[in-house]
Amino acid sequence: MANYTPMIQQYLSVKAQAKDSFLFFRLGDFYEMFFDDAILASKELEITLTGRDGGIGEKIPMCGVPYHSAESYIQRLIEKGYKVAICEQVEDPATAKGVVRREIVRVVTPGTIMEGKTVAEHTNNYILCVTEQNNNMALVVCDLSTGELYVTSAPANKEWLRDEIGLYDPSEIIGDSELLEWIQSQASTLGKPVVYTPWDRGKEDISRKQFGEAAWLRLEPERQHGISLLVGYLNETQKRSLGQLTKISAYEPEQYMILDPFTRRNLELVETVRERSKKGSLLWLLDKTETSMGARLLRRWVDKPLLQRTRIEERLEAVDALQRDFILREDLRILLQDIYDLERLTGRIAFGSANGRDLIALKASLRQAPALKQLCASSASTTLGKIAANMDICEDLAEMIEASIADEPPVSVRDGGIIKKGYHVHLDELREAGANGKRWIAELEASERKLTGIKSLKIGYNKVFGYYIEVTKANLSMLPEGRYERKQTLANAERYVTPELKEKERLILEAEEQMVDLEYALFQEVREKVATEITRLQSLAEKIAEIDVYRSLAVVASDGRFVRPVLSDGFDLIIEQGRHPVVESVMNDAAFIANGTDLRKDEASILLITGPNMAGKSTYMRQVALISILAQIGSFVPATKAEIPLVDRIFTRIGAADDLIGGQSTFMVEMADIQIMTEKATPRSLIIIDELGRGTSTSEGMAIAQAVIEYVHDHIGCKALVSTHFHELAGLEKSLGNLRNYSMAVQESGDKVHFLRKLIPGAADSSYGIYCARLAGLPNSIIDRAYGLLQGFEQATVETAASSQVERISLQGNSAHDGQDNAGTGSKLQTVSAGERAEQDKQLRAQDNG
Ligand code: ADP
Repeated sequence: MANYTPMIQQYLSVKAQAKDSFLFFRLGDFYEMFFDDAILASKELEITLTGRDGGIGEKIPMCGVPYHSAESYIQRLIEKGYKVAICEQVEDPATAKGVVRREIVRVVTPGTIMEGKTVAEHTNNYILCVTEQNNNMALVVCDLSTGELYVTSAPANKEWLRDEIGLYDPSEIIGDSELLEWIQSQASTLGKPVVYTPWDRGKEDISRKQFGEAAWLRLEPERQHGISLLVGYLNETQKRSLGQLTKISAYEPEQYMILDPFTRRNLELVETVRERSKKGSLLWLLDKTETSMGARLLRRWVDKPLLQRTRIEERLEAVDALQRDFILREDLRILLQDIYDLERLTGRIAFGSANGRDLIALKASLRQAPALKQLCASSASTTLGKIAANMDICEDLAEMIEASIADEPPVSVRDGGIIKKGYHVHLDELREAGANGKRWIAELEASERKLTGIKSLKIGYNKVFGYYIEVTKANLSMLPEGRYERKQTLANAERYVTPELKEKERLILEAEEQMVDLEYALFQEVREKVATEITRLQSLAEKIAEIDVYRSLAVVASDGRFVRPVLSDGFDLIIEQGRHPVVESVMNDAAFIANGTDLRKDEASILLITGPNMAGKSTYMRQVALISILAQIGSFVPATKAEIPLVDRIFTRIGAADDLIGGQSTFMVEMADIQIMTEKATPRSLIIIDELGRGTSTSEGMAIAQAVIEYVHDHIGCKALVSTHFHELAGLEKSLGNLRNYSMAVQESGDKVHFLRKLIPGAADSSYGIYCARLAGLPNSIIDRAYGLLQGFEQATVETAASSQVERISLQGNSAHDGQDNAGTGSKLQTVSAGERAEQDKQLRAQDNG
């Protein structure tokens, strides 16, 4: 170290504080990177790698970016999932002794970036903190750009944590290293680069102060702990006020319907499975919002369907009123479309990064608030009325900005032109002085022309020489002697100054400098004043977002002919003429075929749906899940009538066709998910299983499918929709009292098959496959043999079903026959081998237990 030059020594000591980040080290007009940082950055940013003499003989790798375009390079590194520490010169190089002092002024990380395209308008940018303390896990969720902060906790349970994290699509996660490692091992659920930082340096005192003693004391210790860590991290990286974090929104996991990442993806709630795009998802269909805040709130609602009926009814009431009133919807739309992203504007104001244009955008948005409030107050909706009654329209802030900030301020806050005339007496005086000075110069030009007789004489200004009198070479002879002092020679002109011009110049420049400084100070003052009112603005933003979402849901309800669902705390789920909203919306000319659903306690809680591929089975099952979710979000539903019981959790398991998790482990993943389902499902859950047991041999798959269905029927007792291509399972209707066979109707005419997409009672004709084989022209001998075999299989199924009462007892009692008979639904040969395997398995289990 000692051999390095003092500058490199300084670099190394700063770098030691930012080991996990790229260090952008300010040298004059560049940010330079050295050593490994330089090598990696030159690759990632495609910039030239050079070297610099650092005092040790061989050159040190170096690369750099100009400071004025650093922003875009930082963005690119952040998007790739890196952190960037910005190190600035913190003393004036002119007065510094030795190496200029440098310090890290901010660490930009994917979860804390406030600006640029990384922060997409319609989505939140979240940083998460995960911790475990005394067997309780806490999750803290923060969007620094909007000032949102949520916290929740639960008895330690990794699946819970994974499900919860899956909702937020985070850019960055900090916290306990052991938990972070586990989350990283589950990385397939998180689709983008995520930065993980083990973090244990809490800042409880800062958090207490930030959120207030009362709010702090209401939190459980593990939640306090999580928040302290996150706030500590934010402080250490941002190194400035976090005024936008004003309140902690604590929630309990039981308040919301639980949707694991697999189910969310499967149902394409916020993005499609294939393209991972919003287009084609439920959110896409529902999002007719006009503001970014509304779009983000809608996403949060879709992520977290409610479980409290009163809250859902409150939402439905607003949607109902709006969907009846086209004019109100239009009036609201016109107001909302002129409202900017208040949440992010206030975030920047608190952060100290807002400019004049941001304040003008804030003012323009606030100007819409009175009419918005008025419309809600006079609407037919109690929910909207309540919002209006509590709405603080922040008129005083709009007035303050109106009075102080110019209508069209420049982007820069340091170059003047930002404060309105008439706002500040001294500023106006300085401006007047400046204007006078300029007038004086114009007059001087006229009088000099007269005096010298040179018509082309002119007075100009540049940054290096200041004001000058310019005379072309051709006219030089006309200049009187002694009066002019030569300043600069050009190709065909000379530039001069006079003592009185120099004196005036000093006055003008001084006034201008003072003016710019004063404007900046005044601007900061206004910005800070607004910043002290941040909670009011945030609360207004929340209300506007909510109105926007109600309006959006009403538009969708009206356009899509949705109806208001009737919610119940009971069990029965009854839908008349239900439709899949997204599939229906993207169908061009063809009409979507509506299907009803009737799931009742102790009668028909499980539907076993058979039918060939492409018949419409998965569309139907997804549609039932989506209707439940829509209802619990507070949306109308695509049906002519819907009676929806509150569902605490939806599980969906889709067989091998799923293209997300390729490879052999598919079956294991499916089984692991089924295991979680058996553990977590309650009678209030909804289970959807599409083609269970596909990833293994036919007989085994069928055995597992049957066993799982029986378990759901006997032990969980919840509503379930199960599709299967094992037609043999239809026999279960005889042994399982609450299971009903249904199928998707198909019409065959000539050699054509027509999918009717109509759900009808009864199992599908199991010979359909063989029928197809015949249509395809297979020899009659094969067809006959196939029918013969099929009859044999079906006979076996009926026998199994008849004996399944015994099996089910054995399933519960974990008896010696466990698993054996179920496997026997295939051929005789298989029964033997399955029996042997069951025996082996049992012995192995006995060994394990012993
Ligand atoms: P399965 O699960 O039986 O293989 P899908 O549910 O995937 O069948 O449906 C196949 C296709 O049929 C879908 O892509 C959709 O376009 C169309 N479809 C499904 N259900 C309906 C319906 N009720 N009305 C009209 N078209 C439908």
